[in-house]
Amino acid sequence: MRIAFFSAHQFDRQFFDEANRAHDHDIRYLEARLTPVTSSLAAGSPAVCAFVNDDLHGDVLTALHAAGVRLIALRSAGFNHVDLPKALELGLTVARVPAYSPHAVAEHAIAMMLSLNRKIHRAHARVREGNFALDGLLGFDMHRRTVGLVGTGKIGSLVARILAGFGCRLLAYDVAPNPECTGIGVHYLSLEDVWAQSDIVSLHCPLTADTKHMIDGATIAKMKRGVMIINTGRGGLVDTAALIGGLKSGHIGYVGLDVYEEEEQLFFRDLSAQVIQDDVFARLLTFPNVLITAHQAFFTREALQAISAVTLENVSAFEHGRRTGNELQ
Ligand code: NAD
Repeated sequence: MRIAFFSAHQFDRQFFDEANRAHDHDIRYLEARLTPVTSSLAAGSPAVCAFVNDDLHGDVLTALHAAGVRLIALRSAGFNHVDLPKALELGLTVARVPAYSPHAVAEHAIAMMLSLNRKIHRAHARVREGNFALDGLLGFDMHRRTVGLVGTGKIGSLVARILAGFGCRLLAYDVAPNPECTGIGVHYLSLEDVWAQSDIVSLHCPLTADTKHMIDGATIAKMKRGVMIINTGRGGLVDTAALIGGLKSGHIGYVGLDVYEEEEQLFFRDLSAQVIQDDVFARLLTFPNVLITAHQAFFTREALQAISAVTLENVSAFEHGRRTGNELQ
C-alpha cells in the first residue's frame, strides 16, 4: 500500500526500510510536517503515517479524506493530536503503536532526575573548561526521597520499579491504580497529597481535557519548596508560564522537560543557526536548574524497531481487512 510518510527523518528511513522488507509497502518519505498546507502531498496514498507533532485536526483530516486517504497510521502511542470524532465521522481508520518500549521513556525520566540532582549537565561543561571546583554541584541521595508519580501505566510503573531499587518512598495518583505498583510498595493518594508530599514529581499520564495544565500556579503553590518536576508525558500537562514563575521565585528547585507545550514549532529540527522566536522557551533555557531534551525519551534502537514493525503491521492489516487491536475506533 502506498504510504505518505510525514515528518520523515533519516532514522525513520533506516528503521522503516528495514521493517518494510516483511511488507513491501510503497513508502513515500516526506520531510514536511503534516499541516493544512502540506496535506495535499498525501494525494494518491491511501495511508498516511504521522508522528506526534503532525497536525491531525478536523480540517486536515477532511483534506486527507478528500485526497483519498483511508488510514492514519500513527507511529506513536499518544494520540492527543488527532481529532478522533472527526476521523470517525469521515470513516477514517486511525491506528497507533500502543506500546513500543516503555523502558525507553522510563529510563529517560530517571536519567533526567539523576542529571538534575547531581548537576551532570553543568559538571560536564565545567570539567571540559578545566574547572574542577565542586561549589554549586551539591546533590542529594535518592535513597529515602519521596517521588510522586502521576500515571502508573506502562511507563509510570517501570519508573516506580527503578526508583524502588534506589530505596525511594513512592507515592502515586492514577484514575485507575495499578495493583502491580501497590505490590512493590507504591502508595496511592489524592493528587493534592501527591503534590504536597513529593520531593520529585514525575508525569506519566496522557494529555486529555482533564489533565491539561494539571501543573499550574495553584498546584505549584501546594508543592514542597525546592521540588523537582519531570515531564516526559506531554507538554500540555504543564502551564509553562507558571513553571517559569515557580523557578524564578525558587519554589521549584529543578525542572526536567522532554516535552513542551509549543514543541511543534521547535523540536525534531536543527534550528541552531536561527534566532529562537519563542520567548517562553528561550527563558526556560536560561535557568541553570532546567534540563530540556527535545522529545527524545522514546528514542532507543529497541523502541524504533518496535515502532516500525507495529506501524507497518497496522498498515498491512488494514490493507487485508484485518484488525490488530491497535485501531482507536
Ligand atoms: P498508559 O496508558 O500505559 O498509562 C497511562 C496511565 O495514566 C494509566 O494508568 C491511566 O489510568 C493514567 N491516567 C489516565 N488519566 C489520568 C488522570 N487524569 N490522572 C492520572 N492518571 C491518569 O500509557 P504509557 O505508555 O505509560 O504512556 C504515558 C504517556 O507518556 C503517554 O500518554 C504519552 O503522552 C507519554 N509518552 C511520551 C513519550 C516520549 O517520548 N516523551 C513516549 C511515549 C509516551
